[in-house]
Amino acid sequence: MGYKKPSFIENIAEKLGIIPNLHKDNYQEFQDDMRHFTDEEVAQMYENFPPPDKWDDWVEYDPKTWPKKDKKTYQIVPTTCFNCESACGLTAFIDKETQVVKKFEGNPYHPGSRGRNCAKGPATINQISDPDRILFPLKRKGKRGEGDWERVSWDDALDTISARIRKAIKEDRHNEIAYHVGRPGNEKFMNWILQGWGIDGHNSHTNICSSGARFGYNLWYGYNRPSPDHANAKFILLVSAHLESGHYFNPHAQRIIEGKMKGAKLATMDPRLSNTASMSDYWMPSYPGTEAAVLLAMALIILEEGLYNRDYLENWTNWKEYLKARHSDKEVTFENYIAAMIEEYKEFTPEFAEKESGVKADMIVEIAHLIGEAGERFASHNWRAAGASNLGGWCVARALHFLTVLTGAVGAKGGTSPNSWNKFKPTQPNPPAPQKKWNELHFPKEYPLAFFEMSQLLPHFLKEGRGKMDVYFSRVFNPVWTYPDGFTWMEMYADESKFGIHAALTPIWSETAFYADYVLPMGLASERHDLNSYATHGGTWVAFRQPVLREAARRNGKPVNLTYEANPGEVWEEDEFFIELSWRIDPDGSMGIRKHFESPYRPGEKITIDEYYQYIFERVKGLPEKAKADGFTGQFAELEYMKKYGAFEIEQGESYKVNEKELSAEQLKDTKINPENDVITKDGKPIGVMVNGKACVGFPTPSRKNEFYSQTMVDWQWPEYATPTYIKSHIHNEVLDKSKGEYVLVPTFRLPTLIHSRSGNAKWLVEISNRNPIWMHPDDAAKWGFKTGDLVKMNTDIGYFIDKVWVTQSMKPGVVACSHHIGRWRRPQDRIGNRWATNTVNIENNGKGGWKMNTISGVQPFDSHDSDSKRIFWKDGGVHQNITHAVHPDPISGMHCWHQRVKIEKPSKGEKYGDIFVDTNKSHEVYKEWLAMTRPAPGPNGERRPLWFERAFTPDKSPGGCYFIPKDEK
Ligand code: SF4
Repeated sequence: MGYKKPSFIENIAEKLGIIPNLHKDNYQEFQDDMRHFTDEEVAQMYENFPPPDKWDDWVEYDPKTWPKKDKKTYQIVPTTCFNCESACGLTAFIDKETQVVKKFEGNPYHPGSRGRNCAKGPATINQISDPDRILFPLKRKGKRGEGDWERVSWDDALDTISARIRKAIKEDRHNEIAYHVGRPGNEKFMNWILQGWGIDGHNSHTNICSSGARFGYNLWYGYNRPSPDHANAKFILLVSAHLESGHYFNPHAQRIIEGKMKGAKLATMDPRLSNTASMSDYWMPSYPGTEAAVLLAMALIILEEGLYNRDYLENWTNWKEYLKARHSDKEVTFENYIAAMIEEYKEFTPEFAEKESGVKADMIVEIAHLIGEAGERFASHNWRAAGASNLGGWCVARALHFLTVLTGAVGAKGGTSPNSWNKFKPTQPNPPAPQKKWNELHFPKEYPLAFFEMSQLLPHFLKEGRGKMDVYFSRVFNPVWTYPDGFTWMEMYADESKFGIHAALTPIWSETAFYADYVLPMGLASERHDLNSYATHGGTWVAFRQPVLREAARRNGKPVNLTYEANPGEVWEEDEFFIELSWRIDPDGSMGIRKHFESPYRPGEKITIDEYYQYIFERVKGLPEKAKADGFTGQFAELEYMKKYGAFEIEQGESYKVNEKELSAEQLKDTKINPENDVITKDGKPIGVMVNGKACVGFPTPSRKNEFYSQTMVDWQWPEYATPTYIKSHIHNEVLDKSKGEYVLVPTFRLPTLIHSRSGNAKWLVEISNRNPIWMHPDDAAKWGFKTGDLVKMNTDIGYFIDKVWVTQSMKPGVVACSHHIGRWRRPQDRIGNRWATNTVNIENNGKGGWKMNTISGVQPFDSHDSDSKRIFWKDGGVHQNITHAVHPDPISGMHCWHQRVKIEKPSKGEKYGDIFVDTNKSHEVYKEWLAMTRPAPGPNGERRPLWFERAFTPDKSPGGCYFIPKDEK
């Protein structure tokens, strides 16, 4: 097996106790890399993890007292990581004597992460023990934003907020209540709450994150997220840096490596030589915004050379509809379909793609051939990156999925499935009906196709008087810092006529929490309940995030009623908070709200958190049997199983080609088949499609197939984009004036150890990454006369920021980049927080829209209970770049287009590192310029949005209801 034997000297040293004895108890150390081992052997190695029967009494030596051998006894309680969406399994090691969490490791029983974590998982220990964390609910004193706070009780906060919500609902001001979420979670929990209140109040960060890619995927097949089966793929194409830092960071990364170990080839398209690109077989450093042109060139090669999957194209694309709509002069034959597509994409030659992107034509051809050869085993992914950065960025995901369709890899083993096929959906108690309200502050008429809420425009909507927020929750979110145009957010947050009451539900101080009325401390990964299920591979799992000290107390026979009784200080969690708040909004049940939050087991009484999760878990396929087999009995058997293991695998990987599933006889009762397109309808709704004589469930599109041709785009006034296409970005080379020093700034990449604005409380992470210089190729640096460390002034459309240059060959020439997640700040009057990462700044507002920020001091060592806080050696807290970006909402997908046209300059005398200036009048002008590009609703029949498109927190779709714009409404 290749285990390293102890050397003679090691043996002696161990025996004498000079070093610890690492070679007893089957301790294994690897001499070589893992490629020598089979999957089974690798699985066995994980048996080194403490076995579950010892999780209540696990003994280890305390590493801090080494070389003394101090035994420590731990309770091990599973939970899930909260530091990105992947929700990898964690296990908390709780000192049995002190009931303090000492460390976090992986959870080998979690099917997504399989015992492994990235650096951010174990760093949860830093977050929960951070000396600056908020331990008690706070209420502002003085004017909003002045920085003065007083401690209040949870009752005070709950009573005040619930009374205000009750009043708004009773006065039919439902649309003045909003829940604005950054880090989501809680599968469907907030649907239950907000729809229980009858409001259309969900607002999310998705339009600054992933909605561009979602839109591109959705147009094709009605699903908006991909689930690549990397481990079984033959060829993997990533548009971004997934392996190191993209979506599903660790679960995808480990499976990409697995695929590579089995022989898969990996290609990465990214203007930056990311760690992912450096691990790839092919790096395509494309000019930002041209990715769709490269992908369409590959599609053309596959079509021209006959490398496509004929069966799949013939059976599972709406080609007949396409020919009839676009080539009515031609006979409807498959050959004419292929010929028409070749004609449609004839300009996308490899040479054209090279001219646009800078990626060599030879490489484009070679990769197209490999994709064609991989066939169904072609896995790919685009999430943020190009899809989230460009005008028309949604075309990237659409062009990428085109390749998946051409190869027949949609939903295939080793291919790319819709994520819904690999994701668990909970069944909740007393589910509310869809709300009968439509909130135009989130889904305005101008953006009928926007895939998520136009949240980045909320301050502009408020500024121009479209409405107000009477009760507003920001949840683990930091719009002032994370969104573009943060000064406009500050202007609106500070205005009590725009935001009546702002409750920040947050584990940490943030630039947004400074502008709240209530700062309500919410738990980190190991301090809260939550439900997780993500499409990490070709399988389905559900995981349980739980407050570990509460669970330890239960095991020790000291159960608590509410989570904050077990957490540090009075740190609570959203689940119990919102159940309690809902109960107080409607204390006597007269508003019809309370009934949703009653116990399904004890009629008329308030549901407990255990009852909520037990209700869900007892309905998970296979879990009751598994819990019973593991010896759990009684009313909470399934919940107890989840408390013990933290996760359950629902299926191991049978969810391929779900579209081919046949409809049952029962489902086929009273259905009709449309002779034109073979779509099967029931009660007027499509439920499947006939394919080769079989009644298949198909995809959730109007044609029930992959839609190469989108009638929806035609119906909603975008006929020029009816088929996959390439749109030149707002930062295309043609629109930049290089003679004026204009460049494209790529601000979308992350340093893999950071977490948006939530790693400032994790000392290990900040120690690794603590600055965000401008990446610049040596050729560009030479042109400007820059060397590493020189100051550079980056002028955006609305202001500027001053950063330092980092000269590196890892950047495509002609493009510059700056990572996000760095540049955190506080003003002198603000509460101290995140001191591992935060600059102290001075902010001045001239009262006419002009805002200036400059750094008073950088990161400094400080005194605290953590002796490491005195050892901080870094001083540079980076620069806040997003605040100098204008809003750029794509007129179709609604996605913020992150890339910036910047004018590069050398700073003038007196301008310093970290200086920032923004004119919010200019930012409002830019908002209007982009708004003018839209083509507003209504669509056919007065619809606000295509009925077949998914929408978060879907309102009631009844005819004549809120989904339709009344004829007399402007
Ligand atoms: S990938 Fe890293 S940050 Fe994300 S959930 Fe897993 S361990 Fe946590």
